[in-house]
Amino acid sequence: MSEQKIPYKIYLEESEMPTAWYNLRADMVNKPAPLLNGETLQPMTEDELSEVFCRELARQEMDDTTAYFPIPEKIRDFYKMYRPAPLVRAYCLEEKLQTPAKIYYKYEGGNTSGSHKLNSAIAQAYYAKEQGLTGVTTETGAGQWGTALSMACAYLGLDCKVYMVKVSYEQKPFRREVMRTYGASVTPSPSMDTAVGRKILAEHPGTGGSLGCAISEAVEVATNTPGYRYVLGSVLNQVMLHQSIIGLETKAALDKYNVKPDIIIGCAGGGSNLGGLIAPFMGEKLRGEADYQIIAVEPASCPSITRGVYAYDYCDTGAVCPLAKMYTLGSGFIPAATHAGGLRYHGMCPTLSQLYDDGLMEARSVQQTEVFEAAEYFARVEGILPAPESSHAIKVAIDEARKCIETGEEKTIVFGLTGTGYFDMFAYERFHDGKMTDYIPTEEELAAGRAKLPKVE
Ligand SMILES: *Cc1c(COP(=O)(O)O)cnc(C)c1O
Repeated sequence: MSEQKIPYKIYLEESEMPTAWYNLRADMVNKPAPLLNGETLQPMTEDELSEVFCRELARQEMDDTTAYFPIPEKIRDFYKMYRPAPLVRAYCLEEKLQTPAKIYYKYEGGNTSGSHKLNSAIAQAYYAKEQGLTGVTTETGAGQWGTALSMACAYLGLDCKVYMVKVSYEQKPFRREVMRTYGASVTPSPSMDTAVGRKILAEHPGTGGSLGCAISEAVEVATNTPGYRYVLGSVLNQVMLHQSIIGLETKAALDKYNVKPDIIIGCAGGGSNLGGLIAPFMGEKLRGEADYQIIAVEPASCPSITRGVYAYDYCDTGAVCPLAKMYTLGSGFIPAATHAGGLRYHGMCPTLSQLYDDGLMEARSVQQTEVFEAAEYFARVEGILPAPESSHAIKVAIDEARKCIETGEEKTIVFGLTGTGYFDMFAYERFHDGKMTDYIPTEEELAAGRAKLPKVE
């Protein structure tokens, strides 16, 4: 098929949309390590997990053999309201860069919540409703996950309690109001509502909070409120499973034009969008059917893959969640207050951690100022105003496209554009005013985080 025939945007017909999520773990030889009970240090059973998560989600979390999970019809209907997400051929960017590379991006920022997180929010809310629960609790940092969950809960008629990291609550009043528009209750964290919140406030009066601390509060409320469960927007294997919709759509769209990517790039906070984007491609790689270069991009200020250790750690600061084996900086590590809130997490999804440890993917870290330079460059040529998180992937995609100028290689690059930057104008303002700073943690700071890892033999 000739080059000209590939449209700017490749859409899928409703009939071409995926009907099942793909569970990458089914094709992994080395499976991700099981979650452990934080008290007994024994693998979590499905019953134990079901006390925190909905039963079906606990089942999905533990299943590393079933390759495909049919997407329930009600979720597929919801997906149809905002999916398929466009796969864009970045002709304008290629032209501007004068690169022989062919660049594509999958844009997940077109829904009201503004990111890919809605893909898992609707699934998690659906299973909670199916189980007859009345509500869910969660945490949100920058606000994307809380917004997505409140939309999903409004659609299904579930209560939604969001613990929002206090600095974001104050800095992002618009996100907060979107959540309230969809009926969620939003509490700044740490709060006096929970034992863990009161403890953290006593130890660190005036703290602006952190994601790990908001998770601890949300879990405490879920486990103490009848008919409630806790839901999490990233890190867990079940979230990666739901996000496989991104990669399945991308692959279906590329297959229509016989396009095979050489390089696949995604930003990595807890790893869900990257894990979802690469899922079907990594599946082919694991089965020996194709090979791809896969690159995870993380902030230099929170370098969990590039400078972390692969060890069991708590998923949250309050140590109320199970232990996960992952690349981590230690749950006590508090990353610098950068503007890519969605990437400020100390650990990485267990599935991706195992793939990285097996040498099946690469990781790079980039600094905030260079990320915003790439974001602005991209906005001016492709039109879309990208989220700071997504711009980490843009930065590395541009780097790779520039390498192709030197080598003359016509590589095909696909990257995930996870969200819109409309709610991040405060960050853009800092950048434009020359007030943005870069922060790279010292070895001492990282050693302090590692020293507090739980001892698991
Ligand atoms: C949350 C978020 C991320 C990072 O989360 P992952 O689980 O690593 O995908 C990236 N981009 C946006 C826009 C987000 O909201």
